[in-house]
Amino acid sequence: CGIIGFTGQREASPILLEGLRRLEYRGYDSAGMVTGTGSSLHLRKKAGRIAELTKAVHTAPAPGTFGISHTRWATHGGATDQNAHPHFDATGTVAVVHNGVIENYLSLKHKLQAEGVTFHSDTDTEVLAHLIGRCYQGDLMDAVKQALGQVKGTYGLAAVSKTEPGVIVGARLGSPLVIGIGEDGHYLASDANALAGFADKVVYLNDRQICQIDQDAWVIRNQDLDTVDAAVQDIRHFL
Ligand code: GLU
Repeated sequence: CGIIGFTGQREASPILLEGLRRLEYRGYDSAGMVTGTGSSLHLRKKAGRIAELTKAVHTAPAPGTFGISHTRWATHGGATDQNAHPHFDATGTVAVVHNGVIENYLSLKHKLQAEGVTFHSDTDTEVLAHLIGRCYQGDLMDAVKQALGQVKGTYGLAAVSKTEPGVIVGARLGSPLVIGIGEDGHYLASDANALAGFADKVVYLNDRQICQIDQDAWVIRNQDLDTVDAAVQDIRHFL
């Protein structure tokens, strides 16, 4: 339902929690985040209100200056801790949050299970995590592109890999996604309103585009991974 990511020079988890709170009005049943330090990813996710996630993060801090987070409105699988996003691939390398519905998830899931993959949730989203993980050869953007070639459905998604610290990859088809450009880093969000006061400028993705952000840079590419020009919009006057 809602996505917030941050990569930059500040602690990520407070930004992610505040961003999720700003998206609360859209409705949700679970919330979660993964943050990264060095080559470790720290997963916290909870069914229920964002206050539950906040409590979990206060009890067991999620350190790091990059991360992705999500409020889930369940379409496939009940509102449980396990079904909350992010979801990981089988090797624990890649984590994904996703808005939308993967329509062919069941046939993909059966195929992956036949190949020995164990699933830890009832969501359609977990299929995406495994597909990206299996396509991953050190370049997250390339893996996301390849995985998306196999799915039918709608998505606004954000992904991270523990072997590419600070890098967040996003993609959209039928579900909004916007890059935020701030003084201390870059953001990814499903709704530009969540970025007020954080980002000075935003860049909207179009359907079938893929983006990558890190602390210093952002880029948007098409399905063939060619760089596309995109309009940067000032949002400071919204404040
Ligand atoms: N289809 C996904 C799920 O049920 C994502 C739902 C959403 O957009 O929050 O987990």
